[in-house]
Order: sequence, then structure tokens, then C-alpha cells
Amino acid sequence: MIGILLKDNEFEQDIRELLMAFYPGERFAHQETEGVKFYVKGEQEQGVYRLEVDGETCRFEVPEGERLETKNRIKQNLYRLLEKQTGQSLPWGTLTGIRPTKIPLTKLEEGWEPEDIREFMRKTYYASEEKIALSVEVAERERELLSRISYEDGYSLYVGIPFCPTTCLYCSFTSYPIGKWEKRMEEYLGALFQELEYTAGRMKGKKLDTVYFGGGTPTSLSAEHLEQVIGKVEELFDLSGIQEFTVEAGRPDSITAEKLEVLKRHGITRISINPQTMNQKTLDIIGRRHTVEMVKEKFALARELGFDNINMDLIIGLPGETMEDVERTMEEIRALSPDSITVHSLALKRAARLNLEWDQYAQLGMVNTQEMIDLTARYAREMGMEPYYLYRQKNMAGNFENVGYALPGKACIYNILIMEEMQTIAACGAGTTTKVVYPAEHRRERAENVKDVEQYIGRIDEMIGRKDALLR
Ligand code: SF4
Repeated sequence: MIGILLKDNEFEQDIRELLMAFYPGERFAHQETEGVKFYVKGEQEQGVYRLEVDGETCRFEVPEGERLETKNRIKQNLYRLLEKQTGQSLPWGTLTGIRPTKIPLTKLEEGWEPEDIREFMRKTYYASEEKIALSVEVAERERELLSRISYEDGYSLYVGIPFCPTTCLYCSFTSYPIGKWEKRMEEYLGALFQELEYTAGRMKGKKLDTVYFGGGTPTSLSAEHLEQVIGKVEELFDLSGIQEFTVEAGRPDSITAEKLEVLKRHGITRISINPQTMNQKTLDIIGRRHTVEMVKEKFALARELGFDNINMDLIIGLPGETMEDVERTMEEIRALSPDSITVHSLALKRAARLNLEWDQYAQLGMVNTQEMIDLTARYAREMGMEPYYLYRQKNMAGNFENVGYALPGKACIYNILIMEEMQTIAACGAGTTTKVVYPAEHRRERAENVKDVEQYIGRIDEMIGRKDALLR
């Protein structure tokens, strides 16, 4: 446990987040108590901040009334003290937010040159050269991809299908085992259709740019239900101008030829088939209930049916995985030759089974290293892919990042839109969040649907009311 004793709490979250980056999984106390490893103390008086870490103190000036600059200086000084204390540097330096590309993207839009942005990030955030170069490269690519999108007049549609064959060990999404809901699926779809109908009416006159079916695993639905949901979207929305329509097939154990045929018939442009790892022993541990062979089979089936934009999600840092395991996964992925891959660093979410049963899996070791990340990046580049989106999560193993790589022309624009919050996303279904973006005012507002499927069905009018209050 680490003690945080601050005179006022304005920067408590920033201090705690940086501590969490240096000491993943650590708990915090906000008063003097037993069992504390060391204290971090801070106080500001007459333009001078006094910071103390485990008895070592530094003082520095902070500009009155300039919150951002004050925050940066506190984090810079805390970073140096923690670096000294732990003998460790962080790849992302003082950047603890989930969107490290936001800074270079904003600067590019303001007309900054890439080299000036890199210099600014070096001086301000102490991030490594590799991470700075990656974030600027991704921001440049995002900017190019987003140039085809109207922030003002366009919008995207997200449809949430919160069901999966089983629940994965690390899952923190809204997901319920499909077996429990199969008999009541009509009720869920009934509520979803009501929300879709309202949304289509409300968004009339705006241009729909991208559609994304996620969850959960949308292909957990039966082929018939899948057909109904896509059919409903086609009936209600003008899809003539969309740039992409993604359906997360996700779990290979949910995919059948019949379902893929439904997707193909309806012109779905992009699907995901997610192995997470190509090591059977790990798949068994993380509760995916599918085999490596099944991934290959379903992938081959999708290719046979003509899908020419298939993404595969991978996770680095899974229980028991070594560098050799990661390499084996990348070899298998290269042999399959997907159109894009998304490499995630394992994130420890509070409600995930992995966190709740932590002791059991910790013994297996959950290692995520820069070498593993570099290896995945090298394979992606060798497959002809370029990084096009990037984000971080709280409590991520090794403090790294998630990176989406794609072959030229195969990037997923929706992924960038959801991360960079540049465009309104109307979301329907349990556990989804609608975000309205007001680009001119740099303002975003959101309305959340309840996660619980039962509640979503029972309170659908209230969910629509929340959306109505936001969208009117
Ligand atoms: S497939 Fe995804 S949403 Fe479904 S249980 Fe696994 S992690 Fe959760």
C-alpha cells in the first residue's frame, strides 16, 4: 500500500495514476496508517509546489491559474522521483491517459510539424522515442483516414449484442452467456428494434458513415436472428453512403457457415475473427472454449465465402505465456494472412474473473515486455501492415498500449472514431453509450444504456428517453 497525503485533492487523480503506472496493482491509503510502504505528500503555497516521495523532497514553481501547466509540472517532478526510487522508466513517460494520439492529432490539426510535435512530447511527457514516434505516425494516419469523414454532418451507428458463448477469464465487457438468453432473445431484439427505430428517426438528415456490430459477440445470435437485426438496420437506415459495415464475429466458437453467409449476403464489409492467442494451453486457461484449429477453419471458411477484410485480435500478457508463445502466435497469424490485427496488452479489470481469482493465475505468470510488443510490431510490418489506431487502458499489463495494424485500405475507421471522439456515435443495445460530438465547441456529451439485459428490456422507454434528451 502507498500513502497519498495531499493538502488539496485537485491533482490527486493525476498523482495516483502515475503511481499506478509505476506500481501496477498497488493499493492506496489517504491517511497515515499501518502497512504503508511509503508516502507521497504534496502541498502548494504561493506559487510553489512541495512534493515528497518516501522522504525525498523537491520544490518547484507552478503558474497561478494554469491548471494544465501545473498538472504537467507535478507529474514531471513526481516522475523523476519515482524513476529514481524504482530505477525504472515508463515507455509512455508521464502520459497516463487512454489516448496518447490525441496530443499529436490535435497538434497536427493546429498545423504543427511532426518534428516539433516529437520535440514537445519529449520535453513535456518524457515518453520514449519509440512511443513518441508511434503516436505521431498513428496520428498522421488517423488524420488522413478521417479526412473522408464529416464531423459535423456525419455519424456512426453502433449496435450492441451483449451475448457470448461463454465468458472469457479477462472479460470486462457487457456480456452474458448466450445459453441463458436464447429462449428470451425475441424480447431483447424487440427492445433493440424499438431503440433502433427511434434512433433512425432522430438521425434522419445526417449521413451515416460507419456501422459497427459489437458486444459481446454478435455472431452468438442464431443465423435467423442475425438476419433479422441486419435486416432491421437496412430497413431503417440509409446505408447507401456508408464507408464500412463491421460485424465482430469475435469468438470462433460462435461462427457457422450459415451465419457467415448471412453476413456476406447483406454486404458486411469487415469482420473480426479473434483468436487472442494461437496457443491451445492458453486458450484452455482463459476460457475461450475454442481450439487453435477452429480459428484456422473459421478463417478459411470466411475467406472461401469472399470476406476480404478480416481482422484478428490478439492479447499479449496472458497467463503463462512466454516470448516463444507470442512468437508461435505471430507465426500462425502470418500463415493465415489476415487484413488487420489488433494487439492488446492484457488489462486487469476490477470485475473480470481474472482479477477476482488473481492468486490462482498469478502463479502462472503474466508477463508483458517491450520485446513482446516489438515482436508483434515487427510481424505486423512484415505482413505489410501499418499502425493506424492506438489506445491505452487503465491497469494494463506492463503499462503498454493496444495497437491496430492494417494493410493499406483495410483500416477500420470506426475504431478511430470511437477512440478520438471526433464524430457522433449513436449506440443501441444494452451496455452501449451514445456520444454526441459538437466539433465546433470541442464538446462531447453522452447517454448510457443500462448494462443488465433484463433491465434494458424492462426500461427501454427510459433508455430511449435518455437518448432523446441528448439528441434533441
Ligand atoms: S468474447 Fe469478448 S465480450 Fe465475449 S466474453 Fe470474451 S472477452 Fe468478453
